[in-house]
Amino acid sequence: MSDNAFDVVVIGGGPGGYVAAIRAAQNGLKTACVDNWQNRDGKQAFGGTCLNAGCIPSKAMLEASELYERTGHEFGDFGIKVDKFALDLATMQKRRGGIVKQHTGGIAQLFQGNKVTGIAGTGRLGKGGKVSVEGLDGKKQTLTAKNVILAAGSAPVELKPLPFDHKKIVDSWDALEFEKVPKRLGVIGAGVIGLEMGSIWRRLGSEVTILEALDEFLPMVDAQVSKEAQKQFRQQGLDIRLGAKVTEAKTGKSGIKLSYETKDDKDSLEVDKVLVAVGRRPVSERLLDKDSGVGVDERGFVEVDDECRTGVEGVWAIGDLVRGPMLAHKASEEGVMVADLIAGRTAEVNYETVPSVIYTAPEIAWVGKSEQQLKKEGVPFKSGRFPFAANGRANALGMPAGMVKMLVHKDTDEILGVHIAGAFASELIAEVVLAMEYRASAEDIQLTMHAHPTLSEATHEAALAVDNRAIHIVNRK
Ligand code: FAD
Ligand code: AMP
Repeated sequence: MSDNAFDVVVIGGGPGGYVAAIRAAQNGLKTACVDNWQNRDGKQAFGGTCLNAGCIPSKAMLEASELYERTGHEFGDFGIKVDKFALDLATMQKRRGGIVKQHTGGIAQLFQGNKVTGIAGTGRLGKGGKVSVEGLDGKKQTLTAKNVILAAGSAPVELKPLPFDHKKIVDSWDALEFEKVPKRLGVIGAGVIGLEMGSIWRRLGSEVTILEALDEFLPMVDAQVSKEAQKQFRQQGLDIRLGAKVTEAKTGKSGIKLSYETKDDKDSLEVDKVLVAVGRRPVSERLLDKDSGVGVDERGFVEVDDECRTGVEGVWAIGDLVRGPMLAHKASEEGVMVADLIAGRTAEVNYETVPSVIYTAPEIAWVGKSEQQLKKEGVPFKSGRFPFAANGRANALGMPAGMVKMLVHKDTDEILGVHIAGAFASELIAEVVLAMEYRASAEDIQLTMHAHPTLSEATHEAALAVDNRAIHIVNRK
């Protein structure tokens, strides 16, 4: 095989692409991963959106801002007197940058250790497994591959009336890197990113207003759980305005005036900075030559089947570039599946058990169906709920807000969905994802011993509550 000939070429080095490349190499395939992510210093780094500008830096800032807020507002309740403390945003940001660097550097090492050829450049798929690469150093080369995995990811959607200037009208990457706390921050979109970013800057002192076009708050989450979360966010001081569609922005000396439409009126809001968080779009433009043969739908998603095969033999596509939730773990699982299928192994992704998490306080995590979905689909179900206020560990942590809600099939007792708002919901969801993967019943969770005192006891109790047998709440008669 010549130097430029590979078994597998992956275009894109995010959690879809880099994971696919590592697994392909583990499977003994000669693999290259081409990635064009450039950080602010112009240097390429593997890890894509997730490591450089998404999951990891946002969690670093969420953790830091939560500690800051707890120091000011909650430590007193714990009997810890803090006379003086101050925000040192520069250090907080430096910490964020350090964590990102550690992880992106880790991928470069993993590539080396697994003999994946990492190439800093932009890849473009041609005909017959040819990938033309323009290096970030300007060098051009053509790679040939028996299999190509497209993993180019996604980018923020721009609102027509508010084009990004990356100073006052910003995207989520910009909003992670503010050097000063904005006095008034507008956030457009009460989705995952809007809520996480809004929480970070509110905790650090911004007056945050979130404008959301839909009347409903987090429609994909079980309504009882999202209602509880919304109540908590409002109490914390997030000004969430639902049914508010932003239509115009005017930048003046005193800030940006955002005009928005409500059901029967028009209103406006003045802010110093505005984060546009109205979703992300697949990066499929400039990825495919005209004769690549790969289909792209009207929204730019590369068309694939359940096994991530495009219509073209030997060409696969994964992650944010294709249908399904835009989540790092979904991208990675698809990467593993494709790399294993290429190697002739059996592999699949169970799209019924993809967990989702919002890392606010309380955290929100869910998997499977909500009550409103089950009703709509006419599935007979029963449900059980358990509030964290009745959980010893949650109270010891000083985090009693929220609940676990479990939905199970009325006849078979199979778990159909679990929705959680509460402390460490992101960790708690793993137990029920595993349970659902094994098609467990509420009874299986009921009969499983959970350590005391732990937050996971709330999941145990929610399963018991399905049959009105919870111990630490009075059950329905
Ligand atoms: P990406 O991570 O976008 O990676 C694609 C890579 O391909 C990029 O490096 C890009 O530069 C490169 N590329 C594009 N075109 C080419 C080309 N032609 N040639 C070479 N390289 C190319 N998800 C979670 O699961 N949990 C979270 O907590 C979470 N938090 C998030 C927070 C924020 C602020 C954001 C923005 C996103 C968050 N996400 C989270 C979503 C997550 O980041 C994405 O779902 C995930 O990164 C998708 O992975 P991917 O590999 O498909 O694409
Ligand atoms: P997500 O898709 O989770 O990133 O969330 C994006 C949110 O932005 C969705 O809930 C949309 O309803 C919302 N949105 C989209 N366009 C607008 C707009 N012009 N004004 C306010 N909200 C919007």
